[in-house]
Amino acid sequence: SKEDVQAFLKKNSFVLFTVGAVIVGIVLGFALRPYKMTYREVKYFSFPGELLMRMLQMLVLPLLISSLITGMAALDSKASGKMGMRAVIYYMTTTIIAVFIGIIIVLIIHPGKGSKDEFGKQQTIEQVSPADAFLDLIRNMFPPNLVQACTQQLILVPHDVSRDYEGILILILKQAVKGEFKTKYGKRTVHVTVTVNDTLFNSTNGTQETMEITREEVIPVPGQVNGVNALGLVVFSMCFGLIIGNMKEQGQLLRDFFDSLNEAIMRLVAIIMWYAPIGILFLIAGKIVEMDDLTQMGGQLGMYTITVIIGLMIHAVLILPTLYFVITRQNPFIFIAGLLQALVTALGTSSSSATLPVTFKCLEENNRIDKRITRFVLPVGATINMDGTALYEALAAIFIAQVNNMEMNFGQIITISITATAASIGAAGIPQAGLVTMVIVLTSVGLPTDDITLIIAVDWFLDRLRTTTNVLGDSIGAGIVEFLSRHELRSRDVEMGNSVLEE
Ligand code: ASP
Repeated sequence: SKEDVQAFLKKNSFVLFTVGAVIVGIVLGFALRPYKMTYREVKYFSFPGELLMRMLQMLVLPLLISSLITGMAALDSKASGKMGMRAVIYYMTTTIIAVFIGIIIVLIIHPGKGSKDEFGKQQTIEQVSPADAFLDLIRNMFPPNLVQACTQQLILVPHDVSRDYEGILILILKQAVKGEFKTKYGKRTVHVTVTVNDTLFNSTNGTQETMEITREEVIPVPGQVNGVNALGLVVFSMCFGLIIGNMKEQGQLLRDFFDSLNEAIMRLVAIIMWYAPIGILFLIAGKIVEMDDLTQMGGQLGMYTITVIIGLMIHAVLILPTLYFVITRQNPFIFIAGLLQALVTALGTSSSSATLPVTFKCLEENNRIDKRITRFVLPVGATINMDGTALYEALAAIFIAQVNNMEMNFGQIITISITATAASIGAAGIPQAGLVTMVIVLTSVGLPTDDITLIIAVDWFLDRLRTTTNVLGDSIGAGIVEFLSRHELRSRDVEMGNSVLEE
């Protein structure tokens, strides 16, 4: 009846708006492409999208800290230990499955053909040692200065390690001049030659310009979210939450404070959600207007793109839902329908950390996941659990080997699996972070890191898809951990005198 339709529209208006926004964004983007906008015009055009990114990022820091602290404080150490174990097992299992799918698919389809000619000019990237990168990952877990951990733009690499990262700087710069990465310049001077081809920099297409950049050992490396050392803050907040949870009356003030902070932030999220469809529309349209021509897509790069899409689809549409069903015996697609908005936001922003506020809203409101679970599992998941990125890194590394006519032996494939897993843990939830941590994977098996530039042309697109897979993995993880922890949650409810619904 008419009322039913109205009720349906009302209930699903957010989702309908958001999905509509994606479609309109794509259509508008392609419609505007023939006009060949300048860089500046594209920036103006995508301004509403940029605002959405900024609003979401604004909430990430207080949300991450307050949710983790209250999440940990709400459980006793035994329960949180058990749930933590479950979450970690889930993260590891799904990441390994993802890596495995990536490897199998790329070996079967074999998109690389042992010739690099069709990719055009490349840049030189220096080698980075995997050992240093691993140490950096661990270093980041312990930020020496918490305030700085909340504000630093890009991570500070210790002196002795930083030289290795110099090559990546070129990559970052390439993004920076496109306006995608912000670099913070400080003490040291590095000379880099970049090809600048946009009007903002006052040069004609393809001119070589030498830029002198002074920097303070700044290169984004593992564990870094736009302006935030997320990994460090996650570790700190978890410990802090655990402590104040055990502090009885003395901890009450802090528990109440972070609880109410969290509540307030979530209300802000609710407001931003109304703006999200507009932002997403312009983010997507702007990217389509700006993207390079797809003339190259016929060859190896096209096959590569298809291979990645197939791999991600298998993981997201087949493996994760099956896992959810096998464990919870509930319909995974109803669960995923509740997440639609978060998935679309991930697609639009290509950042799982910027999507975090929306993921919270979807899981808590649509899928009714217990807040003690979401608060505890989601921030950690968004920081370290990236199935899509893991799959992508393993697949890309083998593709690069194929392009170089190098056969990977079994041992090398195992090495790729391990480093791809580590690189996905280390990658920040920001756009194209996976591209940077891929250096670790390539170096570990002696592949030329320069060849990252071969796939850079399609990365913006594949990044969106792997980010969506990352967010899906985190969310399904929350569903599974809640299901497995239902007994702990209930007995805690009884203990605290909360009302318990009969099962
Ligand atoms: N953009 C991805 C994310 O935010 C990370 C990556 O580059 O793979 O989840």
